[in-house]
Amino acid sequence: MTGTGVGRVILDVADASAGYDETLVLRNVDFHVHEDQFTGIVGPSGAGKTTLLRLLLGVVEPRTGSVTREPDLRVAYVPQLETVNWDFPITVDECVLMARTEQRKLPWASPSEKKKVADVLERLGIAELAHRHIRALSGGQQQRMFIARALLREPNLLLLDEPTSGVDVNTRHDMLHLLSDLHDDGISIVLTTHDLNGMAAHLPHLMCVNGTVVAEGTPAEVITSDVLEHTFGARLEVLQHLGMPIVIDDYAGRPTTVVS
Ligand code: ADP
Repeated sequence: MTGTGVGRVILDVADASAGYDETLVLRNVDFHVHEDQFTGIVGPSGAGKTTLLRLLLGVVEPRTGSVTREPDLRVAYVPQLETVNWDFPITVDECVLMARTEQRKLPWASPSEKKKVADVLERLGIAELAHRHIRALSGGQQQRMFIARALLREPNLLLLDEPTSGVDVNTRHDMLHLLSDLHDDGISIVLTTHDLNGMAAHLPHLMCVNGTVVAEGTPAEVITSDVLEHTFGARLEVLQHLGMPIVIDDYAGRPTTVVS
């Protein structure tokens, strides 16, 4: 698995700033998304990670600088589960079907659209949940349903906001495998995470963000005490185990003692 981006540039963020109303959240951001990208954006809460995804998606416009997309780029977005209204009275297949993009002559789904939904649910291993109410899904299943919605758009760039937030260790493991398979199938992936050990350390490429890009590189290059201090404003001890960095006092915990 590569992911550090050696293929064609499909989306280019050049010296961009972005924000809301009077407030700038991101400054001087350069980010070249390649066709084989697999990047995790890490940083503290409020650092601008979601805003950066929105900038890539095009729902937030750059205030300065530029965001340039390949003309035929198809970007899909998987939101944080916490932002979803799970009481909406629909089933899994209905929810996925709502993401269809075909030109519709009829208000109801065509046989080919239904087949696409069935295929994508099968691909994500949730075909048997097609007629279940969306509220009656586990966190991992909810996440898969949203990835199914995203895949229905046949994206070449998939953006995910905290895809493993609030899920157990096995579900997180499954999610990593699923994303890795999608990447192997040729989909570029950019996700946000604040889970340094469980998620970020397993990805091929990371970008540390705190209002701007603090550092980027492989986990071995950026999960270091110095870079984490610049990113999170707290000094965190990092050990090496079987060639992987492990943050001793993870961001979810308390920032602690200085280790030199
Ligand atoms: P992160 O994903 O790293 O937690 P966000 O990009 O969500 O950070 O938010 C960065 C800053 O922008 C925060 O201070 C947040 O309150 C603010 N913000 C996010 N979304 C909006 C919005 N829609 N309107 C106004 N401010 C926002």
